Amino acid sequence: GPAHIQVPQVFDYPLRGESAAAERQRLHTALSDVRTDIQGLIERSQAKAIREIFITHQEMLDDPELTDEVDTRLKQGESAEAAWMSVIEAAAKQQEALQDALLAERAADLRDIGRRVLAQLCGVQSVQEPSEPYILVMEEVGPSDVARLDPARVAGILTARGGATAHSAIVARALGIPALVGAGAAVLLLNAGTPLLLDGQRGRLHVDPDAATLQRATVERDSREQRLQAASAQRHEPALTRDGHAVEVFANIGESAGVASAVEQGAEGIGLLRTELIFMAHPQAPDEATQEAEYRRVLDGLNGRPLVVRTLDVGGDKPLPYWPIAEEENPFLGVRGIRLTLQRPQIMEAQLRALLRAADNRPLRIMFPMVGSVDEWRAARDMTERLRLEIPMADLQLGIMIEVPSAALLAPVLAKEVDFFSVGTNDLTQYTLAIDRGHPTLSAQADGLHPAVLQLIDITVRAAHAHGKWVGVCGELAADPLAVPVLVGLGVDELSVSARSIPEVKARVREFSLSEAQGLAQQALAVGSPAEVRALVEAV
Ligand code: PEP
Ligand code: MG
Repeated sequence: GPAHIQVPQVFDYPLRGESAAAERQRLHTALSDVRTDIQGLIERSQAKAIREIFITHQEMLDDPELTDEVDTRLKQGESAEAAWMSVIEAAAKQQEALQDALLAERAADLRDIGRRVLAQLCGVQSVQEPSEPYILVMEEVGPSDVARLDPARVAGILTARGGATAHSAIVARALGIPALVGAGAAVLLLNAGTPLLLDGQRGRLHVDPDAATLQRATVERDSREQRLQAASAQRHEPALTRDGHAVEVFANIGESAGVASAVEQGAEGIGLLRTELIFMAHPQAPDEATQEAEYRRVLDGLNGRPLVVRTLDVGGDKPLPYWPIAEEENPFLGVRGIRLTLQRPQIMEAQLRALLRAADNRPLRIMFPMVGSVDEWRAARDMTERLRLEIPMADLQLGIMIEVPSAALLAPVLAKEVDFFSVGTNDLTQYTLAIDRGHPTLSAQADGLHPAVLQLIDITVRAAHAHGKWVGVCGELAADPLAVPVLVGLGVDELSVSARSIPEVKARVREFSLSEAQGLAQQALAVGSPAEVRALVEAV
């Protein structure tokens, strides 16, 4: 589509106000207009994730701490605009100073509502949209910018800054709008209307593509559209390769509410329940009964399908507000995941008890995050086995996530003791390549199809299979269509992906035979870069 460039609006406003009462009234009107606007967005949003973001925005608008501070400034003679913006900016800076990815997103959310209210106060209209489907080019998009977009009119989103895990990227994904984020400031200098070809799957942008490239892309897009439709029609069928080898396709979820749509999309089980999201949704650690009820809801929704639960994975970059952790220079290399929970055995035991109680002999698999040594695994296993004497249950498997290279390299030892491995390629890639997974400019190079990462997966699978154990992959890589044949070829037994990706992943498995995949995987292990691996798969 043509480029539609939206540079940040410039607002001009007086710093001093008429009178505190008049400014208060203006702000009140602007806030209530924005509230109505957001209410409309909440009602129109199909996706729960988007609605939740807007509900947070509503709560921010109603936050008495913000409005009290604004009021103090109005009394000192500031204009509504100036008072509002300085309070928002101070609050956003405070969140950012905490150096936490989630809180940094909250800062973006705060600035987002800040701008909306300011635009309302200044009576500034947003830029007119072109009439044909266009590529929206912005410095950085706020979640509400994205959610206001009509997927029928916006062919894609291109931003100068931002990371792939920001709220706005999540919203774009939920809406199915292709997006390319963090492309650099040069994209803002494009002329309006320049034809752009954006490939969200590969993370590529063509400026003013020639007719042949465009033609190829259109054909590819149309056939992908058809493939997705056909895939959706077969989403409840098993995923068998052409020669009949079954690959299990499971779903990743973060709360019990996600289970219904996962099953509806064809999930054969839950391959990763990120329990930290349940903890993060509570102002204090949820007690055993609250957790048990939540885990029970997931198992109820699964109707006998297996549930793979990951114990609490916080610390480091994902702190819980109610768990003070000493500041660390390198939180990714610090007290996180299993290291943290083993230091707080009461919390870990409460979670394990809640899980065992909720199971009622249904198939439960518990895995431990960030295991890097055999001792950590044994400590976690022993704790679980001890509790199991208290709360016996029939169908339990215990395993670990493979996210730390040392765990992959020790897989031959660990495989004798665990029931399964689940490869977390997001962290495994970060630790293997020494690239922070959220790095603003390097994260694009942190590609899980790097042959070094594949080598570690290969070691893991061989070790597991030698002892009759199974291996899943639950990182983002499992949903990458180019990665699916490589992972299956390496012998991975289960792929766990977001609900939305299940039909496509199943369809992808059906496109090749196991022997083709194995050939491809062997070739992939022998090259030197992720680009070469991708080229190998694309050449098939
Ligand atoms: C991973 O690291 O690949 C993973 C699945 O865990 P998370 O993304 O929650 O760290
Ligand atoms: Mg991880």
